[in-house]
Amino acid sequence: MATEFDVIVIGGGPAGYPCAIRAGQNKLSVACIDEWQNRDGTYAFGGTCLNAGCIPSKALLESSELFHRAQTEFAAHGIGTGAVSMDVNAMQARKGKIVKQSTMGILALFKSAGVTPLQGHGKLLSGGRVEFTGKDGAKSLLSAKHIVLASGSTPMPLKNVPFDGSQIVDSWGALDFTEVPKKLGVIGAGVIGLELGSVWRRLGAEVIVLEALDKFLPIADQAVAKEAARHFQKQGLDIRLGAKVTGCEKAKDGVMLQFTDAKGAQTVVVEKVVVAIGRRPYTAELLGEGTGVELDERGFINVDHDCRTSVPNVWAIGDVVRGPMLAHKGKEEGVVVADAIAGKAGEVNYNLVPSVIYTAPEIAWVGLTEEQAKESGRAYKVGAFPFMASGRARAMEAANGFCKIVADKDSDEILGVHVIGPMAGELIAEAVLAMEYSASTEDLQRTMHAHPTLSEAMHEAALNADKLAIDIPNR
Ligand code: FAD
Ligand code: AMP
Repeated sequence: MATEFDVIVIGGGPAGYPCAIRAGQNKLSVACIDEWQNRDGTYAFGGTCLNAGCIPSKALLESSELFHRAQTEFAAHGIGTGAVSMDVNAMQARKGKIVKQSTMGILALFKSAGVTPLQGHGKLLSGGRVEFTGKDGAKSLLSAKHIVLASGSTPMPLKNVPFDGSQIVDSWGALDFTEVPKKLGVIGAGVIGLELGSVWRRLGAEVIVLEALDKFLPIADQAVAKEAARHFQKQGLDIRLGAKVTGCEKAKDGVMLQFTDAKGAQTVVVEKVVVAIGRRPYTAELLGEGTGVELDERGFINVDHDCRTSVPNVWAIGDVVRGPMLAHKGKEEGVVVADAIAGKAGEVNYNLVPSVIYTAPEIAWVGLTEEQAKESGRAYKVGAFPFMASGRARAMEAANGFCKIVADKDSDEILGVHVIGPMAGELIAEAVLAMEYSASTEDLQRTMHAHPTLSEAMHEAALNADKLAIDIPNR
């Protein structure tokens, strides 16, 4: 085994593995070390995202949404199905297959880019060295000109509601249920809590979501948050705001959660609990003595704008550094760092990280919310278009939600785009590209959009910003 490299990446999640691939494409010798182990003890590249996050959650969201639509929408199309049933084990097997295809794919990509995959633990030592502990426990000393730390994050535990791996689980546990719980308690109404709550609700669980904050989806545009709350309520997600979970007790038929809300101390008994109160950076056994890599007070590795740590030639990317904990943010950082190491120019545009919540309706946004535009004190205008007025959305039986554009009133530059509705996560890509090029609403207005497509909603929202929409009365 080679022991000297141009680059060693520690962590093979969506931040680390693209970094290693780009380093290989840049003709640098590179190794990627990853210690992810699945429940059966097998090692797999891909980190949280591929193994226990983005990909398995989207597989289950798709299955559960199809199940829900078969029950509630097919009749409108004239399709009779008889009783629709769900085989949870078959659904989980499909998910497992998708995850495996994705994680095995990384090994093939490494091969084609000339990346050396090393499965086991990596520990940064001083002086450009890394201690690698292989699957068999054997230790070896590696060295590299540049080292990239991409060790990711883990679920935040909640004091007094400790994970037990069966009744009280983290997001990974909630992706692996083999039966639909009768009653599911979700702690935290963030992106992960809402997605997992939706999966099991659609499959028949009674779902109660306890959220400490009084405001629903505070990071989203509040018109979108309001629309989302309405839909989730209609779907039967019992979302309690201002409900702070303080503890739990084992009950006869599950777990009794204790929480406080405006009315005082409350309890609710649920069969299973998912703790989804956020994630924290993971740096266990990552930094050897005297490396000089600094962490901030919350445990994130301190980096500058370009992902340099406090130690020359040591970089850090992904969930383990500041910024939104999103796979695509980590991927961009990984690629930009690998290019910087190779002497190429590049920069992550942190103002344009798209956010997507894969519920139904889907929610996606980029840039400033209307509230943020207002707070900034600038003059702004808003254009919006409801999917109810979109022929394609109606044909899809998905005419819910809207597309909203916030733009500078004087310069017409687009400041933010917010979509709640069908395929919002796909539609937002046009907005990100437009904003990357500092487009104005007029640029979008003058861009032809195919008919009938959902993307026309973006076009019409841009037109509506100047009261020029064709397919709705302008207000
Ligand atoms: P990770 O994916 O956590 O990967 C880090 C890797 O490094 C792991 O394999 C870990 O085992 C390994 N490692 C750590 N320390 C060491 C060490 N010392 N030696 C060797 N290996 C080490 N994001 C999205 O953008 N879209 C989504 O739809 C989405 N859905 C999600 C759904 C769920 C349920 C969850 C939990 C997360 C979701 N996320 C989503 C977030 C996304 O998974 C993370 O932002 C992303 O995985 C971060 O990538 P990363 O490479 O920084 O870290
Ligand atoms: P996110 O940070 O987007 O993953 O969302 C996590 C959510 O969990 C946040 O909205 C928090 O307010 C919420 N949260 C954190 N602690 C608690 C708690 N003890 N009870 C209920 N909700 C909580």
